[in-house]
Amino acid sequence: MNILIINAGSSSLKYQLMDPETGVVSAKGLCERIGIDGRLNHKVGENKVVKDIPMPTHSEAIAATLEILQDAEHGVIKSVAEIDAVGHRVLHGGMEFFDSCIINDEVIKAIEKCIPLGPLHNPANLMGIRACQAVMPTTPQVAVFDTAFHMTMPSKAYRYAIPTEYYENDSIRRYGFHGTSHKYVAKRTAELVGKKEFKMVNCHLGNGSSMSAVKDGKCQDTTMGLTPLAGVPMGTRSGDIDAAVVQFICNKYGMSVDECLNMLNKKSGMLAISGVSSDFRDLEDGAKNGNEACALAREKFCYEVAKYVGAYAAALNGIDVLTFTAGVGENDCNVRAKVCEYLGFMGVKIDPELNSKRGKEMLISTPDSKVQVWVVPTNEELMIAQDTAELVNAAK
Ligand code: ADP
Repeated sequence: MNILIINAGSSSLKYQLMDPETGVVSAKGLCERIGIDGRLNHKVGENKVVKDIPMPTHSEAIAATLEILQDAEHGVIKSVAEIDAVGHRVLHGGMEFFDSCIINDEVIKAIEKCIPLGPLHNPANLMGIRACQAVMPTTPQVAVFDTAFHMTMPSKAYRYAIPTEYYENDSIRRYGFHGTSHKYVAKRTAELVGKKEFKMVNCHLGNGSSMSAVKDGKCQDTTMGLTPLAGVPMGTRSGDIDAAVVQFICNKYGMSVDECLNMLNKKSGMLAISGVSSDFRDLEDGAKNGNEACALAREKFCYEVAKYVGAYAAALNGIDVLTFTAGVGENDCNVRAKVCEYLGFMGVKIDPELNSKRGKEMLISTPDSKVQVWVVPTNEELMIAQDTAELVNAAK
């Protein structure tokens, strides 16, 4: 089976053609500068090609993608009919979507209804969906939501303690993001530990970071909120702060709320504390060279991650498994070591030798650790491809 995975942004569109059973990616690429001029970056194995192609809208980007996938020189398929289905990443499913689903007119209306919750991403995701429907009208399309995995949270976890009218009238609550990654890691971890019923905390630590508390494969709580700004501090996002900070800064510096939120999303986090970079590798280099602000940024990050693991261990009445994933979680062994050091009180023990490896699926805890600690490299695209294939096969 061939599944085309589409992740449409406002001026870009990423794609992968994947076999959902093997996870093998036959081709992938990026259309960028949509609405400006248009450039296609296409990759088959190690062969890369870059082409300037006019892309006034997402439709031309999809058309260019389909064309290069069938190209005699750079293509991997002979006709569009070889694409069995398209899986679209959609940011916000609001309270409308608890799972991935096959796209029809009703689904499009419901994704439109969620635009106030994902004002930057959902319109772009819809452009990608509409463009695919226009150029490949008979190919099934599936929407996979970043929020859906978290919809099993109980109300005590997702409700904010603010007047009920904002929940009832405006759907303001915790949603959480990176759901496709959390779902993939939860599913994969169940295979690795060989059981379905267990309690885990997954740490998706990348440029954007979020954590989830999962019981028997179902999400019970997560760190991000109405938007991805909440939770642990991230590359450039502040994570949790007292909301009154916004009022203080806006009043003192004559900033609008939008400007202040932009600062909290793009100029905060590791970048702000270190004053150097949002990239954990730069922070590690800085700390090694004696830069105290870089060391503090990393320390603050590990501290907040460990705090949430503790909170979620309380929420779940203990945990069996702790997992690390995404750029930092998979590769930064010093972050993992520091977080686990904080969790020594819970009987978490990792083997420094095992933990020194990077980017591999592996158990890093010692046999006598009370909690199994795993590194599970995430694969959101595979999860999208599998969800898409499952839904399309079930509808046959
Ligand atoms: P995004 O949220 O953009 O998907 P990623 O999951 O790709 O982010 O993670 C990006 C982060 O991963 C960067 O901060 C980078 O420093 C970190 N990272 C990637 N590779 C390594 C590595 N080998 N060692 C330490 N950190 C790494």
